[in-house]
Amino acid sequence: MELTKKRFKEDFQRTLKEVFAIDIEEASAFEQYFSLGRLVKAYTSDEWQRTNKRYLEKQVKQVYYFSIEFLPGHLLKSNLLNLSILKLVREGLSELGISLEKLEDAEPDPALGNGGLGRLAACFMDSMASTGIPGNGNGIRYRYGLFKQKFLNGYQVELPENWLRNGNVWEVRKENKGVTIKFGGTVTLIQDKIGKLKPVYENSEIILAVPYDIPMIGYKNNIANNLRLWSAESPLHGEGEYSTEEQREDVKRITEVLYPDDSNYEGQLLRLKQEYFFVSAGIQSIVRHYKKLHLPFDQMPEKIAVHINDTHPTLCIPELMRILMDEENLSWEVAWDITVKVMSYTNHTIMAEALEKWSEDMIKLWLPRMYQIICEINRRYVETMRPLHGEELVQRTMIIRDGYIKMAHLAIIGSHSTNGVAKLHSDLLKEKVLHDLYTVYPMRFNNKTNGIAQRRWVQLANEDLAKVLDETIGLGWRRNPSEMTMLKAFQNDEAVLAKLDKVKLKNKMHFTAYVEEEMGIKINPKAIFDVQIKRLHAYKRQLMNVLEIIGTYLELKDNPDADIYPRVHIFGAKAAPSYTYAKQIIKLMNSVATLINNDKTIQDKLKLVFIENYGVSLAEKIIPAADVSEQISLATKEASGTSNMKLMLNGAITVATLDGANVEIRDSVGSDNIVLFGLTEEEVYQYYHDRNYNAKEIYETDPKIHRILNALIDGTIPGIQDEGHDIFDSLILHNDEYFVLKDFSDYAEAKKKIDLLYSNRQAWNKMSLLNIASAGHFSSDYTVLRYAEDIWDVEHFTKIK
Ligand SMILES: *Cc1c(COP(=O)(O)O)cnc(C)c1O
Repeated sequence: MELTKKRFKEDFQRTLKEVFAIDIEEASAFEQYFSLGRLVKAYTSDEWQRTNKRYLEKQVKQVYYFSIEFLPGHLLKSNLLNLSILKLVREGLSELGISLEKLEDAEPDPALGNGGLGRLAACFMDSMASTGIPGNGNGIRYRYGLFKQKFLNGYQVELPENWLRNGNVWEVRKENKGVTIKFGGTVTLIQDKIGKLKPVYENSEIILAVPYDIPMIGYKNNIANNLRLWSAESPLHGEGEYSTEEQREDVKRITEVLYPDDSNYEGQLLRLKQEYFFVSAGIQSIVRHYKKLHLPFDQMPEKIAVHINDTHPTLCIPELMRILMDEENLSWEVAWDITVKVMSYTNHTIMAEALEKWSEDMIKLWLPRMYQIICEINRRYVETMRPLHGEELVQRTMIIRDGYIKMAHLAIIGSHSTNGVAKLHSDLLKEKVLHDLYTVYPMRFNNKTNGIAQRRWVQLANEDLAKVLDETIGLGWRRNPSEMTMLKAFQNDEAVLAKLDKVKLKNKMHFTAYVEEEMGIKINPKAIFDVQIKRLHAYKRQLMNVLEIIGTYLELKDNPDADIYPRVHIFGAKAAPSYTYAKQIIKLMNSVATLINNDKTIQDKLKLVFIENYGVSLAEKIIPAADVSEQISLATKEASGTSNMKLMLNGAITVATLDGANVEIRDSVGSDNIVLFGLTEEEVYQYYHDRNYNAKEIYETDPKIHRILNALIDGTIPGIQDEGHDIFDSLILHNDEYFVLKDFSDYAEAKKKIDLLYSNRQAWNKMSLLNIASAGHFSSDYTVLRYAEDIWDVEHFTKIK
């Protein structure tokens, strides 16, 4: 883009005037941000339009990535970087007396997701645009994002996240591209004149789906892809008009909140409606687009790939069947062949309780046509496979069983590809969790290890590190992250190591200032910054981390002069509002923080900083300052993890179990540059098989663990009367579901090893360098290219090695 600083400054001032009718001096940070965003969107509009036109003219195959969550984070700086105008705009603003960083902070962070799943979808959007894959996102424009987390007396409270309060500057409402969605009523199949069965709908509720499009700008390649988020509205006139305010409110509720509380029927129904709503809207708009190409439908798989990110969008399969048969008059056989070729699916979990299933009754009542089609898919599956695989296997793998519809089974049966998200995870799918379906469709299963957008997690979040990389290995890594391996040549170069050390210290001081300002806690930037940031979940074992902190605290109380390297433990984590146990652990963490942060006798050797409201923007502040990355889930439970990759990329040393992508991180960085501990996958399965794990025995025989657990219930930690007892019981009475006690000693050893390693700073910095150098491999640019090649069969238009 041709832009001079002079023109930018004029454009910016003019935009402020146009949008808010004010001059710079009177404008708030938000008004300045919003005007800048407006301007950047205008700068993008040509690329956006041209990309669209080019895709259409060349009739290239396009990918549609369906995800019920997207966590894009702030877009301002990312867009500036990708448009190659970051430096110019920063300088221009500075000449006008404005700091770009202030404007960045004024941007609302769209929390349209819970964690890893939504963040992965956002990294993929970034990477598809940057590698020139014709890729579209399809999701929901939630009016309220994931709740805003506050701590009140150490307890999590949830406040509404009204991120759209002042509008979203990046979106464009496309009312003319709206489609209608039907819920409920009855569907009867009636024979038409030529003897074909046609559905007749009666008494359905009709909802209008209106798309809002957001440009996804590629890295310096003149490409802007589209992220389409759907909003539910009442139809304006004609069919399905609502007469009462209450009905109109009900309609809006469909896209009101991310993940409604599903502990009751109403909440479950709302979630089901959300799933069908964005699926039906997306598939309808895809078919509409396809028809513009004037090609026969059997060529659809050559032009369209639909990706199902986790099972929430699985209704894509019956919905495409519905449109092809009911509206486009194709036979079942032809429609099915097209559907299977178009669809592909990513599995994100092996935990049984997280495998989505819907009650047959609910789908029958609210999505009657979907129900008919799913029944027929199931019937044909059983009929075809029974002679091949026998009754038992078919019973175990069919879609509908015992009154439930199993979404993962539907996704696998109705698509041509099922992938896991790390090698270990994909192997476990084949060997254990989905073994039966693997037997039926061995060719459909494959692995695609997750990745992260290296632009956001280094180039934007850690500009100083990026500069050191530029100076040391040139600029090529910015487009081809695998070139970061060139850094390995400098592992013994003292000047480079010193530079890395300096950058880390600067980031830590920056973060230290943030913590003091936001939380009033003073921390020592020279201490080890030990970071665990992720959703609060029992399997992720934040509890094990806290128990180790309590252990270290008790050790320091015994001997204040103990040889312990000063540590600051940094946590960020939200618990699902209805997840009581996770919330109890939050309370425990906050109580431990209060206890140790205020205890003068331990001489600031140990601090615990639990930052409220963890999200993408906070991650960008914490990760560059991290020395240690905690990836301590029980082996087999974390499908991949991606914060492990982000932290490694920023030079943190990983303390890890051999779970998810940690295994590949070990392979990439080498065993000497990661600190491993804990049960392996085989050992965990052995315990499950033998049923001989006994947590109480560990408590009774290990004096250190005994003392730490007693601290939960004997008043050592004030303020956790009930929580302490419940957590204690979960470990001792309920036999410690995630083997916290089993892995504890090994983990504590690993932490001691970290202390020791950190004391030798030259060696530490070398490890840190090798971690950075080995992280390019985990760029999501490569991940999406592998999807493009192996699953979607689409071309890409930007050169990248
Ligand atoms: C990367 C990321 C996650 C995923 O973290 P895991 O440790 O892989 O679970 C979750 N939330 C946010 C905001 C992230 O940026």
